[in-house]
Amino acid sequence: MKPILPGSTIGILGSGQLGRMLAIAARQMGYKIVVLSPDANTPAGQIADLEIVASYDDLSAIRKFAKKVDVVTLEFENVPAAAALATESIVPLRPGAEVLATTQHRLREKNFLRANGFPVTGFVEITSELPSGCSYPAILKTAGFGYDGKGQIKVASDDELRAAWDQLERQPCVLEAFVPFERELSVVAARGLDGHFVDYGVFENSHQNHILDLTTAPAVVTAKSAKDALAITRGIFEKLNIVGVACVELFLKSDGTVIVNEIAPRPHNSGHLTIDAATTSQFEQQLRAICGLPLGDPRFHAPAAMANLLGDLWQPNPPDWAALLQFPEIRLHLYGKDEARPGRKMGHITALGKSGVHAAGIVRAARAALQAQSVQVQPLVAPLPVEDIADDGMADVGAVDAELIRSASDGF
Ligand code: AMP
Repeated sequence: MKPILPGSTIGILGSGQLGRMLAIAARQMGYKIVVLSPDANTPAGQIADLEIVASYDDLSAIRKFAKKVDVVTLEFENVPAAAALATESIVPLRPGAEVLATTQHRLREKNFLRANGFPVTGFVEITSELPSGCSYPAILKTAGFGYDGKGQIKVASDDELRAAWDQLERQPCVLEAFVPFERELSVVAARGLDGHFVDYGVFENSHQNHILDLTTAPAVVTAKSAKDALAITRGIFEKLNIVGVACVELFLKSDGTVIVNEIAPRPHNSGHLTIDAATTSQFEQQLRAICGLPLGDPRFHAPAAMANLLGDLWQPNPPDWAALLQFPEIRLHLYGKDEARPGRKMGHITALGKSGVHAAGIVRAARAALQAQSVQVQPLVAPLPVEDIADDGMADVGAVDAELIRSASDGF
């Protein structure tokens, strides 16, 4: 198959920050971009050559979109099957409709993982009635359209399960065993049209209110756990025949074993640090993979950390960007969203460091400085040279300021 070369046009289904960062990488390499989503003036639309505003169910708009581009990719997995098939009938869709069908539905995804021998959380299917004899605690998750903990309720008894299922309007669900994990990990990787596979190693993620808060790379795990996580990821890519970038989210248990939480068939929030820290970012890698080009070098310049900037930071006052940018190591990425709602991903910051933990200390301290004004902490935290951030990740700014930094970041 002939590669899709610079000068060609990339179609993106979805127009949020993942599409924006892909569009930036594509523009840098001389591609044109068309995005389709139901919204106007979107993060990706602001970068695109053409922003088509249409519902994913509008198959006539999807066909017009597909005819304008050389290849289509996506930035979210919940593209309706009919839209994926309509696209595929006109132009290559990478990853394809089959990958989407499996990964957009928790039951299909878990059945796929179990059937192929990948380690997965214990689960039972809930379709028409509730099972009896369940073990608790457990998490009830809707089978479709879940992300960032949406459509999930933790339950501790039959009564709570019944109430939770009612709350989820008795949709098809998965009841998943609660995993007392030690840490959460992810592996972002890419696979080309020729089957070539590259990964970025293992990342460690921490969440606040089910939303990714901080990623460090590389994760501090044993060689065995890392090897298992990478082998599982590669196996999933090959079994699903993924062409493009995807992320496998995993739980690390205290005995060092890893189990798959879920698969995202697209660039992932935990991979954002590859923009600044790796030779080839996850977005350039997605572009290369879907265009049938050789994959880029995934190696890191240095260990790194990324902290998300949520809309909460805009309350009650806008963030203090000047305070943030006094940290010379910080790279700021904002997504061009006008409305800063609590919990909304508005941007992220990345820093490189001597270790992942060291880099995490820098992004935490920088984000705290950003917040200092909005939580009315005075005086602002002074800029920190890298040397003042200890390897344990805590900023060495004296007891009082360190306490302010911690309380400012706790409410995140
Ligand atoms: P998900 O949307 O399935 O990725 O879940 C969001 C977050 O909820 C995960 O990153 C975990 O922090 C937590 N979570 C999800 N499933 C489980 C589970 N079975 N056991 C423990 N925590 C979970």
